[in-house]
Amino acid sequence: MTDLHAPTGRAEADVAVVDSAVITLDANLPRTTAVAIRAGRIAALGEAATRLIGRDTEVIRGPGKAVLPGFVDTHSHMFFGGVVAESVDLAAASSIADVVDALRERARTSEAGTWIRGTGFSLERLRERRHPRSEELDRASRRHPIWISSDSFHSSATNSLGFEEIRIPEVISGQERDAAGQRTGVFLTDACNLEARRRAFAFITDGEAQSMIRRVADEAAANGITTIHAFEGSRLPHSRDFDALMAVKDSLPVHVLPFLETFDVSRAKERGAVGVGGCGRCNLDGMPNVHTAALTEPYADVPEARGELHYEQREIDQFILDAHRQEMVVGMHAMGDAAIEQLLTSFEAAQARIPHRPLRGRIEHFHIPTSDHISRAGRLKLVLALQPIMSHLWGEARGVFRSRLGEDRVRRIDRLRDLLRAGAIATTGADQPLHPYAPFLWVQLMARHPFDSSQSLSVEEALKVAMTNGAIAGGEEGRRGTLEAGKAADLILIDRDPLASSIEELASIRIVRTFVGGKTVYPR
Ligand SMILES: [Zn+2]
Repeated sequence: MTDLHAPTGRAEADVAVVDSAVITLDANLPRTTAVAIRAGRIAALGEAATRLIGRDTEVIRGPGKAVLPGFVDTHSHMFFGGVVAESVDLAAASSIADVVDALRERARTSEAGTWIRGTGFSLERLRERRHPRSEELDRASRRHPIWISSDSFHSSATNSLGFEEIRIPEVISGQERDAAGQRTGVFLTDACNLEARRRAFAFITDGEAQSMIRRVADEAAANGITTIHAFEGSRLPHSRDFDALMAVKDSLPVHVLPFLETFDVSRAKERGAVGVGGCGRCNLDGMPNVHTAALTEPYADVPEARGELHYEQREIDQFILDAHRQEMVVGMHAMGDAAIEQLLTSFEAAQARIPHRPLRGRIEHFHIPTSDHISRAGRLKLVLALQPIMSHLWGEARGVFRSRLGEDRVRRIDRLRDLLRAGAIATTGADQPLHPYAPFLWVQLMARHPFDSSQSLSVEEALKVAMTNGAIAGGEEGRRGTLEAGKAADLILIDRDPLASSIEELASIRIVRTFVGGKTVYPR
């Protein structure tokens, strides 16, 4: 092996991984055995990489291991992800008494007056099949304001002190009332839930917000995510969550593209955002879990419900056209087919108004499209920020998606094969705080479609969706997304070759090391 140690002076690599399966996702050299990193970039691949090994090069020998580009999470809310990571986990609760017990436990060790937040209880799993009311949450504590969210994050509840502190106006619709017409502290629709949440979160300081964001970035690095498209700005008053991200962005272990959740395109540009839209303020509809995704046909289990659109067509047309005029990337939360129809119509209108300018359009979630929607998204070359993890959370045999949507419509979720064929840019993300990072589980879900096997991708195609397409979505395909000399050294070393693994074992692939810009960000 002496030839590997030829002194190369200034040109020597900082790090080289050798004897490993290097999966580049680049068609020119799909597979090789070595990669060299120098000054934050990929310096060389294959034989050329081994020639860059010098006296000071850290050489990682990786028989049995594999190197790949890092994952791109194209849709998450880092601040909210951090809030949830620090909140009381209510996922295991099977009754309101369980919820109360878990919150009481946290209250015991928290100073009186500090907020207690809890997340993740499921209405389907609670015996009572309803949200806990404020007088019930008071049994956990009357001395701590309490806010808890259901697992869809589209409904929430407060105890009496929490309800008092958030001072939510009576006129805001969707607040649950008891038989006597009194408000119960439960927020059932986006209209009131988003407002209640913003008011409850307003008590979080800038410093706390920054450390919550950092926590999510660390979790990302530990799971092989090297880029996050972070949609912030609607969860704290005055978009303090966006400012908290901007304050720490450059010191985070992962690369972050900030999107500001606003309809004000100029303001987003001034504040340094790379794009506008997202969820929070810019959602066209809700979620199927709580019957708020806007559908053209009624829900299967509640025939009088079909969700509703939050905005008029002309309002969305104006926003999309404004973003197109200012050459700003724009994406909006659209889950149901009625919402997707609305957004596609706006994109088509904007493109027709200024046809020579490339449309920088995205649809966030794109959950229940029709086949016509898929073709139109392909024609417009839209970025579709999908979250396969949702099917894992709610799509299983007894999952809520099936009962809400019925067997035919559930098959319209994440039709990756059709999307790729149509020419759309399908990508993946966690939609933090919905689920912690588990990107190889996303790959597994794409390789074995939960509802329609004709939509399953090969593992390599799934990796491209989760890595390369994510870089394309960020306009960074020249710098990231594949392993090629000159690109940023954003890459992961994992404990086995995913292309030689069974679909069953994909989800248990372990991250050995994560590099971002050539720096080891996991382990630390
Ligand atoms: Zn979202």
